[in-house]
Amino acid sequence: PSMGCPGRLLELKGNIRVLCRLRPGAPCGLVSTEPGPGGTVTTCYRGRQRRFRLDWVFPPDASQEEVFQELQPAVLSCLRGYSVCIFTYGQTGTGKTYSMEGPPEDPGIAPRALQSLFQEMGPGGQHRVTLSMVEIYNEAVRDLLAPGPPERLAVRQGPTGHREIQVAGLTHWDVPNLETLHQMLSLGRSNRATAATAMNQHSSRSHALVTLTLRAASPRLGSGTTGTLHLVDLAGSERAWKAGADSAPAGDKDRAQRLREARTINRSLLALGSVMAALRARRPHVPFRDSQLTRLLQPALAPGATVVLLLQISTRPGDLGETVCSLKFAERVG
Ligand code: ADP
Ligand code: MG
Repeated sequence: PSMGCPGRLLELKGNIRVLCRLRPGAPCGLVSTEPGPGGTVTTCYRGRQRRFRLDWVFPPDASQEEVFQELQPAVLSCLRGYSVCIFTYGQTGTGKTYSMEGPPEDPGIAPRALQSLFQEMGPGGQHRVTLSMVEIYNEAVRDLLAPGPPERLAVRQGPTGHREIQVAGLTHWDVPNLETLHQMLSLGRSNRATAATAMNQHSSRSHALVTLTLRAASPRLGSGTTGTLHLVDLAGSERAWKAGADSAPAGDKDRAQRLREARTINRSLLALGSVMAALRARRPHVPFRDSQLTRLLQPALAPGATVVLLLQISTRPGDLGETVCSLKFAERVG
């Protein structure tokens, strides 16, 4: 079929694109796909069959490279001043971090994106690249690259209007080359808060945001032209009851903590969905202020920006309820 045709994604209409990747595993028959552009995922849940159409569905055995190929043109458009935001969304354990980061021997979107940006820029130093990295945990924004102990940062509206957001005290680092960039990313990653849940021992209960700013520094490229790439590994989308709040082996205090986490995560993902749905419908009011995630990403989600949601789903029968929820989210925003 037409699958091996990289970059088709950018030809699709609208600024929000939803792609879907399945966690590899034994096929269960209750989740089936028709891969490709305008592909579908069909679920059979509680006796009801539903068919969801997405902008792109990857075949179940899609490689990291295949996934990146679809995103590469969008990523490189940052060098021409575009704003691009790529999210991985889904239940814990479905491969969000695998897709975004990947294991060292099979890197995911983030390392491939950075590699391809630096390759495209060449050694000329015609762009100034800066990096920041934050985590949002229980609605608190923390700098993952701060030299001192991580402190809670305040998110404010900038002086020049709603599209500018300032995070007081957030560090922005100059990145002269790819090696430095990789070092900083692994530093940030190791600072990311993780906690055990009943579903996945090391599942991350926080959203992690990597922001790369590319400012052209040569007249040929239009000095000052600034593009932005946001790479966002979202916290697990599972509903509160399933986050193990009631089955965790730990004590009451821990359990209350897990519940609180699950609730704030759900609230911010709901806010993300509402913002994207409002933008898609061109509603006059977009509820950016409903969560720290949407406040921080306001410029990245505003009209004119490219937004890609990579929906990660499971094929396990026991996960069907969550799989249907994820697909409904995609349907609402895409
Ligand atoms: P999440 O970040 O959504 O909680 P992970 O990325 O941690 O999920 O993935 C859960 C497990 O599944 C990890 O062990 C990961 O290596 C594995 N995994 C996920 N997707 C793939 C894939 N496409 N190929 C191979 N292993 C995968
Ligand atoms: Mg993860």
